[in-house]
Amino acid sequence: MAFAPLAYVPAPEPGNGPWPTNLRRESDGTVTLAGHHLDELAQLGTPLYLVDQDDMIDRARAWTEAMAGGDVYYAGKSFLTPAVARWMVEAGLGIDTASEGELRSALAGGVRGEKIGLHGNSKSDETLRLALTNNIGRIVVDSPGEVDQIARIAADLDVVAPCFVRVTTGVHAGGHEFIATAHEDQKFGLSLATGAARDVVRAIAKNEHLSFLGLHSHIGSQILDPSGFAAAADAVIAFAGELHEDGIAVPEVDLGGGYGIQYTGEDPAPVSEADMIAGIRQALEEACEKAGIPVPRMSIEPGRSISGPAGMTLYRVGATKDVMTDDGVRRYVSVDGGMSDNARPALYGADYTALLNRDSDAELVPTRVVGMHCESGDIVVKDVALPRDVTAGDLLLVAATGAYGRSMASNYNTVRRPGVLAVSDRGTAWLVRPETWEDVLGLFPDL
Ligand SMILES: *Cc1c(COP(=O)(O)O)cnc(C)c1O
Repeated sequence: MAFAPLAYVPAPEPGNGPWPTNLRRESDGTVTLAGHHLDELAQLGTPLYLVDQDDMIDRARAWTEAMAGGDVYYAGKSFLTPAVARWMVEAGLGIDTASEGELRSALAGGVRGEKIGLHGNSKSDETLRLALTNNIGRIVVDSPGEVDQIARIAADLDVVAPCFVRVTTGVHAGGHEFIATAHEDQKFGLSLATGAARDVVRAIAKNEHLSFLGLHSHIGSQILDPSGFAAAADAVIAFAGELHEDGIAVPEVDLGGGYGIQYTGEDPAPVSEADMIAGIRQALEEACEKAGIPVPRMSIEPGRSISGPAGMTLYRVGATKDVMTDDGVRRYVSVDGGMSDNARPALYGADYTALLNRDSDAELVPTRVVGMHCESGDIVVKDVALPRDVTAGDLLLVAATGAYGRSMASNYNTVRRPGVLAVSDRGTAWLVRPETWEDVLGLFPDL
């Protein structure tokens, strides 16, 4: 029987698209990561997150090299452990945190507070106290009430809190395009348009327990070229010019994260780190010239573009079935994880791709890889062409799950969250150990 034209999305081979540098298809058809066979790694249990350690560190270095004369903060929310924090600091980056747990993870990795930033639209007193006790390098103020909150805690500790102010520029970006709107209806940042940002900067500048370090802007995610950042830099620098006239200097500007990656073989590649930064820097310099102010030091906060493509998820196939759709037969391949280890398809309709850990002469058929959870939206890979003979026991490797995979994982259906294994040609090491039944069942008080 011929298959009707369902989405027939080829899976890119290692060396292409979203796969990390050290993934190879060997001559016998099996796949290795930095010389380690996937079937051997799978002995540790599946699902299993894998991180190509050298690939991740190289991506971090590419940003610091492109940003010479500025600062790169790794967005820890994409995936942070103490060891990862250490890798990033060794590669010359600081760490951006957005919660007490991320802050504690960076500190546990031996990162000095000066190299850490703290974000969040609702920071607790405990988190701020921990940050200030550890000499945090920057706190990004996100609402008017935080000025008094941070000043009160800084006064109590007899320190001066280093503050950035997050502004909403009206620029929103994602993928190919950005949009600029005057209106803001979202929870982050302080509006330039309404004057809220200006009031907060003034309040910080005149508070003896706070110091004003600069302005922060984060415009979105999956941004593939500099145009959206350039528009944001324009708006931020125009505001910096106004502050300058008020006698308030803006020593630094942080343009946030959101640098895009390839998730499938169909996704366009983002511009290189060097081209991205050159484009942003040019816009920043031109805007400063127009505003007649000195060029501030620039920082950025890439997350997924460092951790995303370096990470993958290894699953074992369970049940398979052919399902008749209006457009023909779609093959459903179920794996032993799903939305508990990768929430992004269910949250955002995110696309991924997968490869099979063996050769096959079988015909490629439109396939949907699904999870084991009790939700029809529990999709792992929406559309990929896989060999018809994919069957129970096979290993599937899903690309680019390193960012917002483990960091958003849940115990839905009372699963054990998988471990994250760092893999290199020097060996393997757990970044996060797999949860045990004792971890999961131990949360239930004895009855
Ligand atoms: C999420 C976030 C980042 C990182 O975004 P990526 O898409 O992972 O690069 C950086 N800065 C801020 C303020 C964020 O909220």
